[in-house]
Amino acid sequence: MIQSLNSVPAFDIKQQYSTIEAEVSAAVLEVLASGRYIGGPVVEGFEKQFAAYHGVTECVACNSGTDALFLALRALNIGAGDEVITTTFTFIATAEVISAVGAKPVFVDIDDTFNFDLQQVAAAITPKTKAIIPVHLFGQPVHMTALMAIAQSHNLVVIEDCAQATGASWGGQKVGSIGHIGCFSFYPTKNLGGCGDGGAITTNDPAIASQLRVLREHGSKVRYLHEEIGVNSRLDSIQAVILEIKLRYLDNWNERRRAIAAYYHEFLNQVPGLIAPQELAGGVGVWNQYTIRVSGKGRNGATAQYRDSVRQQLQEKGVGSMVYYPLPLHLQPVYQDLGYQPGYLPVSEQISHEVIALPMYPELTQEQQDQVIYALKDCLG
Ligand SMILES: *Cc1c(COP(=O)(O)O)cnc(C)c1O
Repeated sequence: MIQSLNSVPAFDIKQQYSTIEAEVSAAVLEVLASGRYIGGPVVEGFEKQFAAYHGVTECVACNSGTDALFLALRALNIGAGDEVITTTFTFIATAEVISAVGAKPVFVDIDDTFNFDLQQVAAAITPKTKAIIPVHLFGQPVHMTALMAIAQSHNLVVIEDCAQATGASWGGQKVGSIGHIGCFSFYPTKNLGGCGDGGAITTNDPAIASQLRVLREHGSKVRYLHEEIGVNSRLDSIQAVILEIKLRYLDNWNERRRAIAAYYHEFLNQVPGLIAPQELAGGVGVWNQYTIRVSGKGRNGATAQYRDSVRQQLQEKGVGSMVYYPLPLHLQPVYQDLGYQPGYLPVSEQISHEVIALPMYPELTQEQQDQVIYALKDCLG
């Protein structure tokens, strides 16, 4: 039993800011003094850096990860009558945008990597399928070699949802540079997080990039001349300057996350009643989340209840945690009309009752990691 209850929060973004405060505040003040708050050289500079980091030719910054996905679908003319295959075990944004453009999300189940099962992806393809959206969940890359082979054999477009995986790679290539389009979020808790909302789209296709630039700017190439319905989805200059600074630290921060994941793994891998996350060979993950599964039964057999009781005990020992995601998308009220029944995607349904995301951020100290490990062993032992 740990006596000193120093708390370990589930995440702590203030701490990261304090490590780069001088640099960031000077740059932000410069933007404020410049009078260029939207677009302009700062945003273009960040786009160039972000494209170079990914080894792609094009980056289009926008207002959020959700908008990045939405704009990608719009740029590909995906809409009514089309189907888009994605995982049921993801944040709502991934599927919401498919619905928002008028297409139909087709959900497939996951395997124990938390990412979608590629055999089920292949089986879900119909003549209406236009695209596949792999989600590199928790920072763990999808097996992109196999996925691209499936997509190519059916002539489908691949839009990578990299919101949780900035800096991750598969087969030596950064995620977001392997599919046709990569979509990123700079929400503050992501691996590359801004101080507000932000997002970006990467591609090697200049035609797609120029269409994205038109769509994010009210559907206009020439100011006040509108050829199609677009949106307002731009990245603020203040966010761009912050992100450009943070991009320089990203690899170090991701290395820290990998070291913390390895440390957790060493001490949690053998704990009975706990399944530690595994890294797929071929990928380098960036651990946006470190998600374990607890598989005991609760008092009335509901594993979600058991999971919740473990979290409660962790909280009492000062250890914060989160649940991503408690209800898979195919069972969400908003998707009832798609007709999925409970039991249809059983792995996700089961796992959604078992997951606990432990504290995971680059600034976690060894003492804090030990506190998490001891607390967990205590709860399960
Ligand atoms: C965060 C997230 C998004 C959406 O990003 P926002 O910037 O919050 O709009 C999309 N997909 C996944 C998997 C995410 O985690």
